[in-house]
Amino acid sequence: MKNQPGIVENTRRDNVGTGTKVVWGGEQVRHPYNATQTPIVVSAAYGYDDIDVWYDVALGKTPGFIYSRMSNPTVATLEAKICALENAESAVAFSTGMAAISSVLYTFLAHGNRVVSTKDSYGGTNKIFEEFLPRMGVSVTLCETFDHDEIEREIAKGCDLLYLETPTNPTLKIVDIKRLVAAAKRVGALVVADNTFATPLNQNPLALGVDVVVHSATKFLSGHGDVLGGLVCGVEPLMDKVRHYREINGAALDPFSAYLIIRGMKTLALRVRQQQQSAQALAEFLCNEPLVESVNYPGLPQHPNHEVACAQMRGFGAIVSFVLVGGMDTVKVLLPQLRYAHCAGNLGAVETIYGPARTTSHVENTLEERLALGISEGLVRVSVGIEETDDLIDDLKQAFKFVRSTRDENNLSNIAHTSSECCTEVAS
Ligand SMILES: *Cc1c(COP(=O)(O)O)cnc(C)c1O
Repeated sequence: MKNQPGIVENTRRDNVGTGTKVVWGGEQVRHPYNATQTPIVVSAAYGYDDIDVWYDVALGKTPGFIYSRMSNPTVATLEAKICALENAESAVAFSTGMAAISSVLYTFLAHGNRVVSTKDSYGGTNKIFEEFLPRMGVSVTLCETFDHDEIEREIAKGCDLLYLETPTNPTLKIVDIKRLVAAAKRVGALVVADNTFATPLNQNPLALGVDVVVHSATKFLSGHGDVLGGLVCGVEPLMDKVRHYREINGAALDPFSAYLIIRGMKTLALRVRQQQQSAQALAEFLCNEPLVESVNYPGLPQHPNHEVACAQMRGFGAIVSFVLVGGMDTVKVLLPQLRYAHCAGNLGAVETIYGPARTTSHVENTLEERLALGISEGLVRVSVGIEETDDLIDDLKQAFKFVRSTRDENNLSNIAHTSSECCTEVAS
């Protein structure tokens, strides 16, 4: 928030790199007791002796805090930090990524509106599109993610809000932000983009014309798999509306979580640089593994949207997904063999994390829904951690070796696979 006491203008206008902005962006110059770290302010309310001053703060005429559902100093520092990273005017923090996404949609949509989006989006987001928005009289059209002609046609038919996620979870598809923003602007639609997978290190959708950026801070921003949070940023008039909605729906971020996210964000650049270097190596390794049917990673030259990724991203991110020969049966044998990986439903942490879509991104969906979305049961998502690259590849090697030994025993090796097919298509 702007104009809060003690919250100095952050460094977003300074010409410094992301690695510097993550450390210093949004931070106060002075804290109580000359502490160098952001204090966790747990007060539910803030006291005033002068009723007139109190009223001016409540009206927003004077900077200050009234009640922590409205605003909180620790949360405000986090909001200033994401502003520095996304070059945004204003930001609003939420209790989770889904609280952020749903709040943005409920803030800007009303009965009779039409949303255009893609089939590939986070499972929870997809549920809002399929289940909740239609219930309030908002129609939603989900297009094939790679078919930009179709998306443009649907936008041109009339659209109030275009919702994009790129790269997509867990299929790692890339949508051309600039191209679709142009189509949306022609019909006056608001454009919202989920930048969770790319992180502000690799991609700044606001700079590409997007109006509102959302993040699950649970993932790379916090980076340690120990906190939930969501962030929304954009210009002040839009964020004012989102902030007002948060005041009323109450999905505010608590100050402890805000502190953990601030602390995690300071190493965002270091972590993600290491993680995406390993992700590229892992993706290339998987391309040559006969038990792998296809690999999804925007950093692979064979990726259908590699060129768009090169144009709009500074790095390809730390998530890779692949489809195993033999589907879920192979998933069940491979994953428990991995020694340096959690098998879990989150991503973006310092540890490497593996998980099938069934129990991770699309746990909210039925099998039929997943198949309709083009997510096969053999699809595994890897969130590459900060471990040594060679150790991660060795770990996969020994796990695949184990799978091969069990397949030989069961005489299943006749499920032929030509590795030349590898990487030519995204999961189908
Ligand atoms: C995890 C995730 C979300 C949801 O965030 P939560 O913090 O779990 O609510 C939204 N979008 C993407 C791309 C995600 O990966």
